[in-house]
Amino acid sequence: MSTERKRNARLFDVDRSSVSSEGYSLDGKLDSQRHSDILQKRETLPVRKQKNEFLDVLKKNQVIILVGQTGSGKTTQIPQFVLEAVEVETSVKRPKMMVACTQPCPVAAVSASRRVAEEMNVIIGEEVGYSICFEDNISDKTVLKYLTDGMLLREAMAKPLLEMYRVIIIDEAHERTLATSVLFGYLKLVLGMRPDLKLVVMSATVEAKLQDYFDGAPLMKIYCVHHPVDIFYTIKPESDFLGATIRSVVEIHQREEPGDILAFLTRQEEIEEACHRISEEIGKLGNKVGPVEIVYLHSTLPPDMQQKIFEPAPPPLVEDGPPGRKIVLSTITAETSLSIDRIAYVIDPGVVEQNFYDSRVGVNFLMVSPVSRDRADMRASLAGRTVPGKCFRLYTERSYNQDRHGQTDPEILRSNLRSIVLILKKLEVPDLRHFMNLPAEEALTRALKELSDLGALDDKGNLTELGNMMSKFPLDPQMAKMLVVSPGFNCSNEILSICAMLSVPNCFREGFDKVKARFVDTDGDHLTLLNVYNEFKCNKEDLSWCDTNFINYSVLKSAQNVRQHLVQCMSRCEIEMCRTYLYGPDYYDNIRKAILAGYFMQVAHLERTGDYLTVKGNQYVYLHPSNFLGWKPQWVVYNEIVSTSMHFIRTAMHVRGEWLVDIAPPRYYLKNFPNSEAKQILELLEKWKEQRKWKREESKNKRYVPRKRGEEVGSREVHRKQEREESRNKRYVLSSNCAWKREEEVGSREVHRKRERGDRERQWEERKRKCATRKQ
Ligand code: ADP
Ligand code: MG
Repeated sequence: MSTERKRNARLFDVDRSSVSSEGYSLDGKLDSQRHSDILQKRETLPVRKQKNEFLDVLKKNQVIILVGQTGSGKTTQIPQFVLEAVEVETSVKRPKMMVACTQPCPVAAVSASRRVAEEMNVIIGEEVGYSICFEDNISDKTVLKYLTDGMLLREAMAKPLLEMYRVIIIDEAHERTLATSVLFGYLKLVLGMRPDLKLVVMSATVEAKLQDYFDGAPLMKIYCVHHPVDIFYTIKPESDFLGATIRSVVEIHQREEPGDILAFLTRQEEIEEACHRISEEIGKLGNKVGPVEIVYLHSTLPPDMQQKIFEPAPPPLVEDGPPGRKIVLSTITAETSLSIDRIAYVIDPGVVEQNFYDSRVGVNFLMVSPVSRDRADMRASLAGRTVPGKCFRLYTERSYNQDRHGQTDPEILRSNLRSIVLILKKLEVPDLRHFMNLPAEEALTRALKELSDLGALDDKGNLTELGNMMSKFPLDPQMAKMLVVSPGFNCSNEILSICAMLSVPNCFREGFDKVKARFVDTDGDHLTLLNVYNEFKCNKEDLSWCDTNFINYSVLKSAQNVRQHLVQCMSRCEIEMCRTYLYGPDYYDNIRKAILAGYFMQVAHLERTGDYLTVKGNQYVYLHPSNFLGWKPQWVVYNEIVSTSMHFIRTAMHVRGEWLVDIAPPRYYLKNFPNSEAKQILELLEKWKEQRKWKREESKNKRYVPRKRGEEVGSREVHRKQEREESRNKRYVLSSNCAWKREEEVGSREVHRKRERGDRERQWEERKRKCATRKQ
């Protein structure tokens, strides 16, 4: 199953107990020694030398652009400077107004707020807090709030002028995430309406375009000393990035001078595997080398593990022995969002995992692609932040010069815009013409079309009641729709759990295959996830139960946290909480139908060739090897497409063709789809549906025609006979038009029904067994 299934997944149930208490006094603040060490360290940051200059520019201007390389102290220091200036200017209003500092990912928001709370020696969540999707740690006292850029946009939906903020700082602007790009456009509108609001845009690279966009706002540079970095390339192209990264780490540890290592990998699964293999390899070297501390960094890392990346390398095992080394294995999070000190060696495989939305076919791919030259340079520069360093690029110099783009495209140019258009509709932003990076017209039109297919927009493009409700959930519109309509299928409780499980990273640990029979539902991964969550709750959220079943406890706890937040959203929208009788025959079918109601745009059909073709977009796809289906259903609904050597559909579930025509908006399938087997079958199903409807209505009308009893029976008999014949003829006409199709459809339906019956019986027995064991 997926690892970083949702890049903005939430794992931050921060409480003091999860964070080391070393260095803290009883009142939760830092002890004086540790605090003075921290203050001493912050005085060495380059940005401290330009504090007065910054405050001066801030006072005179509404917008400032600040450029400084990673580690210069922008994220942690600038908000504190601003706070001091704001305190002087608006002392009366101060408790009511705040300074906001946005970050591109939750890890960065939590880490920065913790550091600043330590520097100010306050308890996190009081004067300094953070707000990320599904988690707030703020109070009435909060004056400085770190939040993800997406959260600030959501806050604007409730308070369009963002009156609670006096200064807004958009950090890591060079990352140009989707939400940051939209915020630029939106804040430009707000700044016009609120002369008292100030905006600071912080970036690691100079961008003239940014200055032009904000009408020539002043640009201030932070001066940093940078150490030299030697860059090494491979002689031949490398195909196994993971293996090459592991080899490089081990070699550096054996041969190079002391200094920590930072290696970039694409995803959490890879990081975990690399960690395992590196410890094994280094373990084999015994006492010849120093000890190592391997730490992970990815966008959904829990807080106790985040802090480890800032800790120093382990000391030598024996006096005068070989020195220890810290090895950081990271996704792109370490590129700029978090600044790690003492890195002397960077290993750059030259790839990154990114979302690409193909608006032509309407499909979103999560794929590993080459990093651009500017990203590669950013990675290399991390080796020279605090000491002279080396960067090992696992690709050729020719590849650097010729095969890579100069810059990474802003996310807005390669994303599905559904979520953002829904938010903009809610914010009543009239158009996107004044936005800095204009998305392609095709992508915008498609987003509007998809939202109207989902029922969020009406024919005139205005937000509907359903759309309004959907916009209140911090979820993708498809998932939000599934949740909002779930009471119609009598299963909102179950859909809530499924949404929560889909919003957190992979919960299965190595070894789960041994016990998967206890949880697997062969109708789909969604149902398997639901079973895991339900069993976790039935077993009273027991840690040892998780361990014996190879399930990640902290991931399930965060799913529980996400679920609680969604329950609050549901109650704010007054959406009914309901469930189908657990042991009834409709239990799983209702859930599957509700999922389809949200994800009907992501359906694939099994072609006669044995391959799946997405119904919308005609894209060949394959079931991801991690799926729990164990067979190939005729129709599957899926959560995402992951592209490696092939396009894989991940988190898939079996659905029925008849449901598609019943649940998707009228004529949705037939109008939009390219010619395919799936389209022909759906056309037939649609026709039968209309015939069934017509017949139902006719017989209903007949029932109300007053006739004498005998006559009525007689005529009904005659009529039925006629109907039977008519329908036989109709079927013949259909089948002669499309002969092979009908036979196949009927045949496969028979097989399918039989299989379904078998499945249901099996599941029924299984549930009875579970019920009996639970009662015992
Ligand atoms: P920038 O935003 O310019 O990249 P930061 O303000 O993030 O710089 O970092 C400044 C310094 O503070 C760096 O040396 C970094 O290692 C340190 N730092 C940041 N966050 C933490 C943290 N949570 N714990 C320890 N040190 C931190
Ligand atoms: Mg920063």
